[in-house]
Amino acid sequence: MILDSKIPGGPISEKWTRHKFELKLVNPANKRKFTVIVVGTGLAGASAAASLGELGYNVKAFCIQDSPRRAHSIAAQGGINAAKNYTNDGDSVYRLFYDTVKGGDFRAREANVHRLAECSNLIIDQCVAQGVPFGRDYGGLLDNRSFGGAQVSRTFYARGQTGQQLLIGAYQAMMRQVAKGTVKMFPRRDMQDLVVIDGKARGIIVRNLVTGELESHEADAVCLCSGGYGNVFYLSTNAKGSNVSAAWSAYKKGAVFANPCYTQIHPTCIPVTGDHQSKLTLMSESLRNDGRVWVPKKAGDTRSPDQIPESERFYYLEEKYPSFGNLVPRDVASRNAKNVCDNGMGVGQSKLAVYLDFSDAIKRLGVSAVSAKYGNLFQMYEKITDENPYKVPMRIFPAVHYTMGGLWVDYNLMSTIPGCFVLGEANFSDHGANRLGASALMQGLADGYFVIPYTIGGYFASTKLEKISSIEKEFEVSKKESSERIHKLLNIKGKRTVSDIHRELGHIMWENVGMGRNKAGLEKALALIPELREEFWKNVNVLGSEGSFNQNLEHASRLADFLEFGELMAQDALHREESCGGHFREESQTEEGEAKRDDEKFCYVGAWEYKGNNQKPELSKEPLTFENVHLVTRSYK
Ligand SMILES: Cc1cc2nc3c(=O)[nH]c(=O)nc-3n(C[C@H](O)[C@H](O)[C@H](O)COP(=O)(O)OP(=O)(O)OC[C@H]3O[C@@H](n4cnc5c(N)ncnc54)[C@H](O)[C@@H]3O)c2cc1C
Repeated sequence: MILDSKIPGGPISEKWTRHKFELKLVNPANKRKFTVIVVGTGLAGASAAASLGELGYNVKAFCIQDSPRRAHSIAAQGGINAAKNYTNDGDSVYRLFYDTVKGGDFRAREANVHRLAECSNLIIDQCVAQGVPFGRDYGGLLDNRSFGGAQVSRTFYARGQTGQQLLIGAYQAMMRQVAKGTVKMFPRRDMQDLVVIDGKARGIIVRNLVTGELESHEADAVCLCSGGYGNVFYLSTNAKGSNVSAAWSAYKKGAVFANPCYTQIHPTCIPVTGDHQSKLTLMSESLRNDGRVWVPKKAGDTRSPDQIPESERFYYLEEKYPSFGNLVPRDVASRNAKNVCDNGMGVGQSKLAVYLDFSDAIKRLGVSAVSAKYGNLFQMYEKITDENPYKVPMRIFPAVHYTMGGLWVDYNLMSTIPGCFVLGEANFSDHGANRLGASALMQGLADGYFVIPYTIGGYFASTKLEKISSIEKEFEVSKKESSERIHKLLNIKGKRTVSDIHRELGHIMWENVGMGRNKAGLEKALALIPELREEFWKNVNVLGSEGSFNQNLEHASRLADFLEFGELMAQDALHREESCGGHFREESQTEEGEAKRDDEKFCYVGAWEYKGNNQKPELSKEPLTFENVHLVTRSYK
């Protein structure tokens, strides 16, 4: 398949402006004639629904929760980037663009990243106008803090609850449209399938999670804003409901899936304590502004941290990367934490943890200043671990956090199915092989508030769309297939619980497709996943019934998709014989243990096309060119 990214011509800083001018427009009076389905009302979906509703389109918005306010976006703690340069420390749109391309290890499209940096400032203005309570400095201006991979402070925040506050802003903008009648909200709906008619996305099948009823909804375009797939690892910092299912159904209908192996492992999470856990908790990257990361110099040291003198501590990030210190990007920080633990220097009972120590910051700033910045995170840590981080260092370890891969989209955010747009974490677009902190919120809101309102108009104005209705045969076929799958799941009546099988999949993925990957491990995963999938379809026990609220059935249906998707991830990781960003192939590292990219062979987006059940998917490549940020080996030293 030829992947046409539709990147506009001209200098990088003029592409988006020029593209917006060249896109055809839909007359204001005609907009109400178009119906847009938005699947997902997290930051990407809620902002898209609000903007499209405001423009006058007829929007139908769907989410699995009882309220859009419970989308996973609410969990975002640390902040959102923008190139405002309020601190006068040398930031600019170009620098944000540069840092993001470099941070992504040169595996993202330059044009998309530049547009993202351009939109970043508009997002802050929009959110302030909505009343989002960003943190302010002593003079009342918006405050900034630092995140990894940048030497400027450009992260806007609302204490440790930035995602929640931004989501309330986007939610209220969307609900305003609900009140005006342009947006109709469908909560507690789980997308089962994408309906494609005459090669174009024309609707979806959803399951009403309360009644169990399958519903058909038609539209002129579908925007998938369904979030990331980190839960394929079972344990992750994602909300338990985050899934790949909506994107997977689009993949099976012809949308190619890009870079599925790019997973972000976040360095500062509360360590795993055992199989009793069903999810992990992030300690925001913002903590690395003031917390110092260290381990005992001596392997196997069991002394408590206060008994280890300064001279016997290994501040490994500060020592190895003096320019960026504790604020190296996430992939670098995670790999180094793994290395010191692999070398026996890990701390805590499991020895799979490192210290994040605030004692210096508390001495320098005082408890109340530290508490003002991070109070809610410290409280959360203490509740979970029963240890007071004001007194003893936090123990942290890397965990699955975000997925850079996603459905392939062109510059207009359209997938390879015409009329199927993909926004936010569900697409692959802007972060390459490693996402810098505080840039997911920026991307989701840029996509929803500032990109899709233009590009969807361009699609409608240049596409002939026949009148259809939800009684077309394509809807009936999709509905029948969804119903059959639900029956099948409920009638297996095997012996293993859904969680048990999901946990096993998670172990396979973490051990073999996790922080360090090698050929043997990936081949092992490719052998184990189909076996486990077979076991699932023979021996899972899905409780409850079809016609009622049934979270066990929801989980089973998502796991069925993860069991297919995990194989694609492993396959993608196996084919990419280079290390880049969050994808660390152990065979491809420098003598110092840093990731070694292979630009000659792998400077492309790898996108997989579904070829049928039990058939090998086909790989297509979108070559990446770097005309502005030249390909160099990343260094944070
Ligand atoms: C703990 C944590 C902290 C984070 N902190 C930050 C931060 O400080 N800064 C930052 O930039 N990023 C952060 N991130 C990343 C960021 O939160 C996410 O990438 C972002 O919120 C994703 O937004 P989204 O709108 O794309 O998806 P989501 O918020 O995940 O929303 C997905 C939506 O899709 C719906 N949905 C999903 N599947 C279906 C289906 N089958 N049918 C119908 N609806 C469906 C859901 O109901 C939901 O409404 C953090 C992530 C985590 C895990």
